[in-house]
Amino acid sequence: MKLATISDATNAKLGRLIHSWSLPAGKRFSCPGESGLCRTRCYAKHGHFHQTNVRNAYARNFSFSQTDEFADWMVGALRACFAQVMRPHVSGDFYSVEYVRKWHYVVSWLKRIQFFAYTRSWREEEQLPELVKLAALPNFQMWWSIDRETGPAPLIRGIRRAYMAIDDVDADLAPDDCDLVFRAQRATVMKKANGILVCPPENGVTTQSKITCSNCGICWDKRHTAVPRWEASILPYLDATGVEINAV
Ligand code: SF4
Repeated sequence: MKLATISDATNAKLGRLIHSWSLPAGKRFSCPGESGLCRTRCYAKHGHFHQTNVRNAYARNFSFSQTDEFADWMVGALRACFAQVMRPHVSGDFYSVEYVRKWHYVVSWLKRIQFFAYTRSWREEEQLPELVKLAALPNFQMWWSIDRETGPAPLIRGIRRAYMAIDDVDADLAPDDCDLVFRAQRATVMKKANGILVCPPENGVTTQSKITCSNCGICWDKRHTAVPRWEASILPYLDATGVEINAV
């Protein structure tokens, strides 16, 4: 019997290079930091995510992730499929301190694999220090996921912020210090929102070749990793005034 499932080149947005791992979405399962907007707008609660086979697979993953075998299984499974890039949680999120620690173990063992994740679990006070430790690993790119209901995310060096906009009006409200905007509605062309880059496949521009996370790389490829905007704009001021950050 299958214990759990890593997805391989099946996600149209991620593209062929990136493996992924998902859990059932929602506060009841794996999204302790969900906002009201997540509850009503989350893509992982609609479309093909509702298919029985998908729901069953994610439920299996969720159960298995709570076992002691999970971390070693994940290390072995990623090695076995020669993964190069891994995105935990196309659906779902970090749901407990223990679960984040399991990912820390996995990422520490697999130094040649690049990991990246967006999370709203920074809103969970007890998870935050563990997420910061995970983000500090050199092969992990962490993104704080925010929307207009989450409140401001903590300032942690090296962690970028992605704003989820429900429409074009909302997109223009993206905070100045975020690094990327995702759009739930993509009918219009919008390459930047309030001066912030819009995720290329979501900017409404038609391109000859399809842009995927695999060939884009902004979120995971170190060659594209920029200093978070908040660091560039706020850090010099904080340093000058002696304010300490990352004190979680
Ligand atoms: S910016 Fe690029 S890497 Fe990030 S989500 Fe969009 S397509 Fe994927």
